Amino acid sequence: MGLTAQSTGRHAADRFSERQQNHADYIVALAGNPNVGKSTVFNALTGLHQHTGNWPGKTVAGAVGHFHSHGYELNLVDLPGTYSLSTNSAEEEVARDYICSKKAHCTVVVCDATALERSLNLVLQVLEITPHVVVCLNLLDEAKKKGIHINTAHLSKQIGVPVVGTSARNGKGLDRLVQKILSVCRKEIPVHSYYCRYPPLIEEAIQDVLSHLPISEDNRFRALCLLDNDSQAVGKGEEEAAQCAARWQNSLKQNNLLPLCDTIASSIIQQAEEIYAGTVTIHTAQTDQRDRQIDRILMSRKAGIPMMLFLLGIILWITISAANVPSQLLSQFFSWAGDGIAQGLILLKTPSWLQSLLMDGIYGTLTWVVAVMLPPMAIFFPLFTLLEDFGYLPRIAFNLDHAFCKAHACGKQALTMSMGLGCNAAGVVGCRIIDSPRERMIAILTNSFVPCNGRFPTLIAIMTVFFAGLAAAPLQPAISALLLLCTLVVATCMTLLISRLLSATILHGMPSSFVMELPPYRRPQIKKVLVRSLCDRTLSVLSRAVCVAAPAGIVIWIMANITIGDATILSHCASFLDPFGRLIGLDGVILFAFLLGFPANEIVLPIILMAYLSSGTLVEYESLAALHSILTANGWNIITAVNMVILCLFHFPCSTTCLTIKKETGSFKWTALAFFLPTACGLLLCFLFTSLMRLIGFA
Ligand code: GDP
Repeated sequence: MGLTAQSTGRHAADRFSERQQNHADYIVALAGNPNVGKSTVFNALTGLHQHTGNWPGKTVAGAVGHFHSHGYELNLVDLPGTYSLSTNSAEEEVARDYICSKKAHCTVVVCDATALERSLNLVLQVLEITPHVVVCLNLLDEAKKKGIHINTAHLSKQIGVPVVGTSARNGKGLDRLVQKILSVCRKEIPVHSYYCRYPPLIEEAIQDVLSHLPISEDNRFRALCLLDNDSQAVGKGEEEAAQCAARWQNSLKQNNLLPLCDTIASSIIQQAEEIYAGTVTIHTAQTDQRDRQIDRILMSRKAGIPMMLFLLGIILWITISAANVPSQLLSQFFSWAGDGIAQGLILLKTPSWLQSLLMDGIYGTLTWVVAVMLPPMAIFFPLFTLLEDFGYLPRIAFNLDHAFCKAHACGKQALTMSMGLGCNAAGVVGCRIIDSPRERMIAILTNSFVPCNGRFPTLIAIMTVFFAGLAAAPLQPAISALLLLCTLVVATCMTLLISRLLSATILHGMPSSFVMELPPYRRPQIKKVLVRSLCDRTLSVLSRAVCVAAPAGIVIWIMANITIGDATILSHCASFLDPFGRLIGLDGVILFAFLLGFPANEIVLPIILMAYLSSGTLVEYESLAALHSILTANGWNIITAVNMVILCLFHFPCSTTCLTIKKETGSFKWTALAFFLPTACGLLLCFLFTSLMRLIGFA
């Protein structure tokens, strides 16, 4: 256990404490290794919907929720998953700092019953800090299937704290868990602190330092911190103890016991092994053969990447094929409802400009975003989540590790890219799973090279209209899916190229190695995933429509309706950008639409249509044929379509993602780079492509 000053922990602890905790009777922290079911326990107890998924590292920030039991209100803090309480990574620091802050009345350590030995390491480390612990032995159903039997009573006796077996996914054992949590919070269970046994000299030093600490009770960990490192921040009233620790350091050094963290870690591992041996019996030596067989295909050198592309292609094909019908139904519904509302406004004698603003500006934009964006998002996301729940995501990281290594970046970047497919802002936050600051920065700067879900519908529409539309109707979804898959491959190659470029220049360095546990394949919870991600997607698209698209609709309406001289503001701006747009094979309207689409990528295409029709109305294109004729009438050809796809793939991140990047990097400089890097690439690629086409006489 790497030990640093307890005082550093207060920042993280305060972050949580700001949220609701003061009102609750008790605060309960949920700690544990990654992927052991902490979020599942958290969701089951609080009724919230923290993201769960079958891969280690998805919970990078803590969450707070609350629940009631026996008349008490309890706040539950879901800490990021950690293997140890050292400060090797941001997650470990957050988890360790929170536990050290002792704000929690009870710390629940969720353990994996199928890999108890590793979980026990963390339990023993937590017990060093606080005795107010309940061990939640989760995944009991999987352990049972694997023939693993755990004597919970014996384990509880050994470590001196309650141990409760659970299968959180099915809700089994959670009532008993809550009972034990309450008992610990109410101090009904006598505390028998379990302390690891260290070499005698360390024990002697601990006792000596403890005798100089203001409150020696529960402070063994603090004594260890002081003994471990004399340059750390010394708390108020700890000066004497720090001097005492400094005196001990010489003799610890002479006995080869420093660095202390190594000695402590090996003692803990040894004791975890002993406890494990006395508690666990494996009846049938059943191995995870089925998993290995699947891995042999999904992770093989030859078939790994083709299988990955195949699976992604299938998801895209289902998304494109299935989105058409709900999109049309929603469009019809909104047009019917719009007629009704318009009638109502006339009856209310609303001024015509207000009618136009409300209906053409707000209602039009809002319903466009919902009708066109919602179906593909609501289909793609659950399907992707099913793959995640199955345990496939870390396998993607494994398959792409070699490529990322060549780009001098981290293989985990493949995971953050996958998150970026859903939403770039989520992908940027997810970069916290990358330990090396250099590699994390590369992952953040390149995350928006992967198109988020909000850009998919535009890409699909352009591809279908200009390329797939040339084929017979039944083949169109498959061709669009294939083309979308190709663009994702291009986006990945570009990410690798830019990562390599960054690591050769401003983010110079070699790739670090990383260890990532491959989770077992789990049967996805189909119903839960479908319902949850459908609801989440629907809510997020609806809230985006209301918060971003509706105000943007007002701005666009004003720009398209107010005339200066002989043209509207919208066409003035478009004309200003037109020469530059033409140079790169686009036009002023397209460039201006991208600029106006900064709050949300979803509204780029509707703005283009509105400007072309100069109607001041956000048009609905009833059919792809209609879209094709509007675009070609305004000078679009295959080259414009390719350039549009390029710019849609590579341009500045949306406003939410920019804010997230600023928050994550804490720097305007890096945020600006994240903004300009993809934009410069997009514009350059468009220019090169158009110039090439002009050179060979196609444009
Ligand atoms: P966390 O990283 O510790 O928060 O883990 P999650 O709560 O995200 O769960 C990881 C995976 O384990 C998910 O696929 C869950 O559905 C699955 N899971 C959680 N608890 C159980 C359980 O008791 N039994 C089984 N079979 N799977 C579980």
